Amino acid sequence: MAERFRQRAISASPGIAVGPAYLAAQPTAEFAAGQQATSGHEVLAGAVQTAIGELQRLAEGADPESHDIIDFQIEVLRDPTIAATTTARVKAGENVVFAWVGTLDGYITELEGADEEQMRARAVDIQDIKNRVLGALTGKPIKDFPAGSVFVGSDMEPSRFLAHDWSAGGGIVLHKGSAVGHVALLARSRSVPMVVGAGDFTVAEGAPITVEGDAGMVFLPTGNTVMRMVPRPAARRHDHTEPSDNGMLNTADGKPVLLSVNLNDPSEVDAVSIRAIAGVGLMRTEFAISSIADAANEEKQLSIYRRVLEWADGKSVAIRMLDVGGDKPLSGLEDVHAELRGIRLLLERPEIARVQARALLRAAVFGKLAVLLPMVTFPGEVEAMRRLFQEEAAQLDRRGLPYCMPPIGMMVEVPAAAVMLDTFATADFFSFGTNDLAQYLAASTRRAVTADSRKTSPAVLRILANAARLASTKPMSICGDMAGDPQYLSALLAAGIRHFSMAPARLPTIRSALIGLNADGTTAAGE
Ligand code: PEP
Ligand code: MG
Repeated sequence: MAERFRQRAISASPGIAVGPAYLAAQPTAEFAAGQQATSGHEVLAGAVQTAIGELQRLAEGADPESHDIIDFQIEVLRDPTIAATTTARVKAGENVVFAWVGTLDGYITELEGADEEQMRARAVDIQDIKNRVLGALTGKPIKDFPAGSVFVGSDMEPSRFLAHDWSAGGGIVLHKGSAVGHVALLARSRSVPMVVGAGDFTVAEGAPITVEGDAGMVFLPTGNTVMRMVPRPAARRHDHTEPSDNGMLNTADGKPVLLSVNLNDPSEVDAVSIRAIAGVGLMRTEFAISSIADAANEEKQLSIYRRVLEWADGKSVAIRMLDVGGDKPLSGLEDVHAELRGIRLLLERPEIARVQARALLRAAVFGKLAVLLPMVTFPGEVEAMRRLFQEEAAQLDRRGLPYCMPPIGMMVEVPAAAVMLDTFATADFFSFGTNDLAQYLAASTRRAVTADSRKTSPAVLRILANAARLASTKPMSICGDMAGDPQYLSALLAAGIRHFSMAPARLPTIRSALIGLNADGTTAAGE
């Protein structure tokens, strides 16, 4: 093998990847344009035109009855009063996508309340065009890179990660990036080797490159040897050794402990054996719902949540409402990002929360759903969101759609909430988010706090132990990265945590680390 040049980096996701380098200098222009596109009137007009085109193609060769329905739908899409109502809503300050949804929802409600059966039947046709236009809005192309290659760039967008096919292997090397950033979370959950903070280096496009995720190392060729590409199995699913204990373990002194998984995208369920886990402790929704058009699309969200709930087969699935703002952008919402994040953004923009609440209420019929609220700081925020769920449930009732009211719990990831946890009577359960807790406790950023994790973790563990006492008898779990790190297991057990939710790839490590530990975190005699 030719001589290789070694570049130090920071480990972000374990495993070894070998493949040709794909050089992504910057997020591509077309990607950036696509991200901003959904905020404009022109884009909505374009999506309406796309929908009309699709309907016209559908009409070709359709039977006369279908033709009539399609003609009616096209007529509605061209109706100037619909355009005028949408424009008026935008002028009143609504985002154009939600203005579109609000206008059509108003029309749908009117039709659903009509006396004549024929009119009521039209509601579903309007629902259909509403979603068709939303579908056209989300159809932004993301420039993909060749399967099996190693992505080399300054940073990477979560949607680009999600759009890529990782089944042929490959990895990620970021010149900057963060080990607790969102792409790193995704990489760990999909077992994609990744390093960050690799600094500046040059490598030729297509040159063979090796990423050592555990060691935080990149190997670059100095000669021109072509290294063999090692395809990684599509999913690290070790069926032959996969435990079937439903993630229900015991400490050495016989106390039950639950192991669940964190998911970032519904497709991740394909790589997880349901018999090896107690449930889903955290499903982040901000990656699967990555644009304002997705946020407005109740049906799309319903299908995402339903897929995970049905897969879970009656086990608990905690789906977290959109945690956007701050370092998690949602394209089309740039105006409020800087100021607000998580539940505060949802309450400031209730039109987003209402769509998600309806989709969650409807999805709850298909499994054991629990709703998790992000970045909660004050008890009133939980109360306000619960009221919103009740209002949307009443709305679904009026429309005759089946739903279930799920338990509503909160992330404990803001220090102000953690120290006052006994005042959160309205939350049904708690889930500790140590990633943000560490960041905000240390007045740091997610990137910087990783470098200092050894220094900040005693403070995080102390606040967590105190909060766990304040939680009293309420169900609590941990879903931050600390849950999947064996060095903290004893301290977390000692703090009273009995339910750990982590990236699927971390499960085997935590399973083995549990062996020989008592429920108070001490090592059992004889171990
Ligand atoms: C956390 O903050 O620990 C957490 C689980 O939420 P996220 O990483 O999505 O911010
Ligand atoms: Mg968080």
